[in-house]
Amino acid sequence: MELTDINYIKRLLGRHGFTFSKALGQNFLIDPTVCPRMAEMCGAGPDDGVIEIGPGIGVLTVELAKRAKKTVSVELDTRLIPVLAETLTDYRNAQVINADVMKTDLGRLIDEQFGGMRVFVCANLPYYITSPIIMYLLESRLPVESITVMVQKEAAERLCAPVGTRSAGAITAAVNYYASAERLFEVGRSSFLPSPNVDSEVIKLTVRKTPPVSVDDEKFFFSVISASFSQRRKTAANGLSSMLGISKDKINTALADIGVSPTVRAEALSMEQLAALSNKLREIKNG
Ligand code: SAM
Repeated sequence: MELTDINYIKRLLGRHGFTFSKALGQNFLIDPTVCPRMAEMCGAGPDDGVIEIGPGIGVLTVELAKRAKKTVSVELDTRLIPVLAETLTDYRNAQVINADVMKTDLGRLIDEQFGGMRVFVCANLPYYITSPIIMYLLESRLPVESITVMVQKEAAERLCAPVGTRSAGAITAAVNYYASAERLFEVGRSSFLPSPNVDSEVIKLTVRKTPPVSVDDEKFFFSVISASFSQRRKTAANGLSSMLGISKDKINTALADIGVSPTVRAEALSMEQLAALSNKLREIKNG
């Protein structure tokens, strides 16, 4: 396949005077097996729409456009727009938007571009901004089925860890509230041009129709999550007290009320316990 052929890529980029930007996380896939596999596992079919973030030269875009009804790819780097016009010329269902995904109203984009279609997100994400993009997609509560993304291996481990285990972090619990996460397959560093210093992994976040736990105040729930995990070497109570401005005594009472030891660490708390704690602390806070 041309778009994974290093000589072809170098000639193409040379003709367009393009040089890689490290700051924009530009590592392009050159392993011909990865994109077809990713596109297939994302699950979009002939009646569906796909949003892609950071198409680069379009190597994943073409695989998505072959399978879906329509694709819309958001690329920040203006220099890649003429390159994509060339590589996607045979794919009339593939549209490119030159924008920063973090400043794009994706809800509106979905309304305008995909009326009535099921929508999937599939992307090889720029690593400098992986978590913000994932949280932006989830917090916007977009009407999408799933988010299939390539991320750094360590990020995959963290994002997909079961809540309540040592590998879990604040982001694990936050993601879990919106989606169920699974690890799909690993991709080594030599599959990219230029080769990054880290290995990668493709993960899939299947968006939940309803949250797994019931919380009285979502915004407060997310601040309880980040406060609990804010001092990872200490107890959850320490972080909660200092970040939420609630006395240690009251935090301990809330923990006792939900049947948890005052010395518990955040990573040992389940989603149910985090939700119960949030509801209890809100009660206490509101007096
Ligand atoms: N999809 C291509 C591939 O797999 O070879 C390129 C992936 S590369 C890891 C990440 C891409 O995201 C680059 O094309 C980069 O210019 C683009 N990008 C970086 N920051 C972005 C942002 N905030 N919004 C949209 N695209 C961005």
